[in-house]
Amino acid sequence: TRTIKPLVAGNWKMNGLKADLAIATAVAKGADAPLRQAVDLAICPPATLLFTLTASLIGSRIATGGQDCSAYASGAYTGEVSAPMLVDAGATYVIVGHSERRTLHGESNAQVKAKAEAALAEGLTPIVCVGETKDEREAGKALAVVKKQLRGSVPDGATAASLVVAYEPVWAIGTGLTPTAADVAEMHEAIRAELGRILGKATAAGVRLLYGGSVKPGNAAELMNVANVDGALVGGASLKAEDFLAIARAC
Ligand code: PEP
Repeated sequence: TRTIKPLVAGNWKMNGLKADLAIATAVAKGADAPLRQAVDLAICPPATLLFTLTASLIGSRIATGGQDCSAYASGAYTGEVSAPMLVDAGATYVIVGHSERRTLHGESNAQVKAKAEAALAEGLTPIVCVGETKDEREAGKALAVVKKQLRGSVPDGATAASLVVAYEPVWAIGTGLTPTAADVAEMHEAIRAELGRILGKATAAGVRLLYGGSVKPGNAAELMNVANVDGALVGGASLKAEDFLAIARAC
């Protein structure tokens, strides 16, 4: 009895050569009509593969996305990829504010917000990532940290259809550790409420809230059945077509 169609998005991170286009082809082949009816699927490969991978998925109704975008549309920003470039390559989503960007590249909430707004301006749906560190959770600050990230990084002008928020506890990413269902429920309820204060209740009610962090076929059903969890952002397991599909089916 879901009112929001879930989204399962794969984040390939810095993994993927031409040969790995076969993973996407296998996902498309394995995603039968009932699954695609029930769940939206997206693959976010490295930028080098985006154009070819998107082209290979034409007719599959599986979407693609970037893993980051610049806050600027074009110009003297060596090494950056802009939102118009992602659109040009066929993307419909872009992950912004992933914890690896926040930590390794020092991205602030304000920068994440600017990137999300650059995405919205091009018609891309930003997947805005938030999540606390282990220390923050142990100090009892997880809810406060995530609310502050939301206030700082949710783009102005977002609608329910044009925004996805992913709760990814930093300590759960790539570690095999996951929060309890009760902790996820508490956090996702708090995120929905905070989005209500930022965007208005009606909009917030329709925003898809993904859980991310060590989602695997074995734990997906439990995590995806939590209230206010509208899908998953999947890292490691998205590199195996069978695992990614099993997670989607668990929704
Ligand atoms: C991620 O980095 O978005 C992620 C959820 O990674 P993993 O599934 O590998 O923990």
